[in-house]
Amino acid sequence: MNPFDFDLFVIGAGSGGVRAARVAAGYGANVAIAEDRYFGGTCVNVGCVPKKLFVYASHFSDEFRHAPGFGWNIDSTEFHWQQLIANKNREIKRLNGVYGRLLENSGVTVFNGHASLVDEHTVSLKGKNYRAKHILVATGGWPSIPDIPGKEHIISSNEAFFLEKLPERVTIVGGGYIAIEFAGILKGLGVDTTLVYRGPLFLRGFDHDIRHFLANEMEKKGVNLKFDTNIQRIDSSPRGLSAHLANGTLQESDVIMYATGRTPKTNDLGLEKIGVETNDKGAIVVDENYRTTIPSIYAVGDVTDRVNLTPVALAEGTAVANSLYGGQTVPVDYRYISSCVFSQPSIGTVGLTEEQANQQHESIDVYRSSFTPMKHTLSGSDEKTLMKMIVDKTTDKVLGVHMVGSDAGEIIQGIAVALKAGATKSIFDATIGIHPTAAEEFVTMRQPS
Ligand code: NDP
Repeated sequence: MNPFDFDLFVIGAGSGGVRAARVAAGYGANVAIAEDRYFGGTCVNVGCVPKKLFVYASHFSDEFRHAPGFGWNIDSTEFHWQQLIANKNREIKRLNGVYGRLLENSGVTVFNGHASLVDEHTVSLKGKNYRAKHILVATGGWPSIPDIPGKEHIISSNEAFFLEKLPERVTIVGGGYIAIEFAGILKGLGVDTTLVYRGPLFLRGFDHDIRHFLANEMEKKGVNLKFDTNIQRIDSSPRGLSAHLANGTLQESDVIMYATGRTPKTNDLGLEKIGVETNDKGAIVVDENYRTTIPSIYAVGDVTDRVNLTPVALAEGTAVANSLYGGQTVPVDYRYISSCVFSQPSIGTVGLTEEQANQQHESIDVYRSSFTPMKHTLSGSDEKTLMKMIVDKTTDKVLGVHMVGSDAGEIIQGIAVALKAGATKSIFDATIGIHPTAAEEFVTMRQPS
């Protein structure tokens, strides 16, 4: 008799968990998945998807401003935040349904509720125990907010997606993807926006030219950037929230949002009790095949705090299912993972920054180009685009490509394929461009700077 109720029990129906469950079921495995919040996880509910919808909403203000340059007469425009929220919520609800149906149609048993580990093969859910040959933890992450006086007045991105009213003034704390994306969104929607970052320049770890260029473009759009300082205390008064900054100034706003990183969501999972090791940040420690310190238990995605991006969690979930049920142990290749910061203008990046290339390669060439995109010859906007390519001088291999400008994510995704295929600068040079586009600049950069 089979001692197990399931071949695989997945805890968490976000990007990584759903993918692993569906692929495993596709191989014929008997799979269950448990979710205690929302199908689709952070990405669908309080991350990538609603964020991108907000970015679209926010772009309209620029479009309206640019329209007269192209002959359009726009007498008046009005923005209704509640309408955007309602439409966004409707779309997310539709996607929740799609995720639920995809799982059920794959033959996966779906449980709504909080699951925790009882032993290496047992999961407890709503007072009942289920035995599984393998267990996959894919519970994601949760916003982390530092403990400062007045913390109760702070919201995270989770709440920002459901604000009842669009604030007149917002202060955003942090210098990562979320802080920068929300600063652009809220500024575009007409909010007086200040971004406070504790270091000298935001987006630590990104290429230095990209960071400087974006800071300048954001300031041109009217985002108030306050670097090298942090909030020490927040007081509430009838006039709003007063943030006391370390530089001695007072920052008044209606909403204060912290985007100061995310921590792995491992609460009440029973990891410690059964000996699943976590690191000092609370992330589940896994080997190259996503196996935890308990061999029958695996973990993927943000709960392992490695590369916290949806497509990476999807790839990891697929890899676990492939290795357990498809006989293919092909680990995820973490080189050349492209990503986009949906700032305004956006950043697209793949491969090494100039700083990393200098450390890892003997000699490099750097190609840079900054220009006014054709659209802005008539739009009246002074927005500029920056493109940058880093090449190994000895091998001619392109090591990194970065840009700040419209559609950066769309452009860099294609370039990432070329880099993954090992493209040299000569191959870029031999590629015929598409005219007139911004992207053609990447195949016409001739002189290193
Ligand atoms: P990040 O880890 O990217 O950035 C956190 C920021 O907060 C850093 O600038 C950090 O500063 C700062 N910070 C940390 N602790 C404090 C503190 N106590 N006081 C003040 N500042 C602090 O986190 P995010 O929250 O922006 O995003 C989480 C993850 O989500 C990202 O790692 C990313 O992988 C993913 N994501 C991806 C997106 C995309 O692909 N477009 C969009 C949104 C999120 P310092 O640099 O000095 O450490």
